[in-house]
Amino acid sequence: MTLTYGSVSSLSANPIEKKPLHHFYPGSVALTAGSWGCNFGCPWCQNWDISKSPSGKGWYLSPEDFVKTALARGCRGTSISFNEPTLSLEWSLDVFRLAKGQGLYNTYVTNAYMTTQALDLLVDAGLDAMNVDIKGDAHAVRRHCKGIEVDKVWRNCRHARQSGVHVEITTLVIPGVNHTEGVLGGIARRIHDALGPDTPWHLSGYYPAYRFHAPPTPLSALERGWEMGKEEGLDFVYLGNVPGHRLENTYCPGCEELLIERRGLTVMQSRLLETSCPACGRNVPVVV
Ligand code: SF4
Repeated sequence: MTLTYGSVSSLSANPIEKKPLHHFYPGSVALTAGSWGCNFGCPWCQNWDISKSPSGKGWYLSPEDFVKTALARGCRGTSISFNEPTLSLEWSLDVFRLAKGQGLYNTYVTNAYMTTQALDLLVDAGLDAMNVDIKGDAHAVRRHCKGIEVDKVWRNCRHARQSGVHVEITTLVIPGVNHTEGVLGGIARRIHDALGPDTPWHLSGYYPAYRFHAPPTPLSALERGWEMGKEEGLDFVYLGNVPGHRLENTYCPGCEELLIERRGLTVMQSRLLETSCPACGRNVPVVV
C-alpha cells in the first residue's frame, strides 16, 4: 500500500475520552487526524470507509499546519487515529517533534502491529500515550484479521510501557468473535500479568459494519466482561459506547469512591486531589 506523506482524510478536535484514554489528561482536547488504509483486515471495522481505502478525497496537511491548528484551537495535544496511524509513520514523527517543541502531548490510537524499531522512533519523537486495540485471542485475531500474530501486539504494549509511554487497552466486544469468558478472561489476565493491574481496559460495544453483520453487542456481554476484568485483578475497567452507564466512571480501587464522572465523552466532574483519592488518599495512576 502506498501512502502520500501528509495525506489526511479527516481532522477534528476531540475529547481525549474519545480515544479512549481515561487516565491521560482527562477532559483535555486533542487535535486528531486520520489518513487512509490499514495493515489489518478486520471485517467489522467501524471506520471501514477510510481504513479499507488506500486513498480518497482528502487533502495535504503539513506537520507545521497541523501543530499550528492544534494551538489555534486550544488543544492540549495531538492524536493520530481513525485509520491505522503507523501507515503515516514518517508524518507522525514530524508532527510529534514539532508538537513537543510547542508543549503539546502526542497520542496514537493503534493496533500496535509495528516493529519495535518503529515504536522506538515514535517514542524518540515524543509519543506520550497510546490506546491499543486487542481484538481477541491468537485464534480469533489470526482468523479474522488476515493472519495477524497478536503476540507482536502484546510485545509492543510491553515495550511501550517500559519506554515510558502511557498505555490503555481497548477491546471491541464482538458476538461470535471474542465475547466468551475464555477469550475476554484471557485478555484481562494477560493485561494484568504483562502490563500491570493499573492498566485501564476499555470494553466497547460493537455495531454491525462493513462485512460483519452479527447483532450489536448486548449490554449484558459488556457488563460480564467488566466482571471478568475485575475478577482477574484489573483496577480500572470501563465500558464504552454506553453513554450514561456508571461504568464509564473512574472509581477508587481502594475504597470505591467516585473519582471521575463521565457521560459519554464529557468529564462531568473530577474529584481527584492531583492524583490521589479524596476519600482514602490512595494514589491513582492518572497523568494530569
Ligand atoms: S485495525 Fe482498526 S482500523 Fe484497521 S481494519 Fe481493524 S478495526 Fe479497522
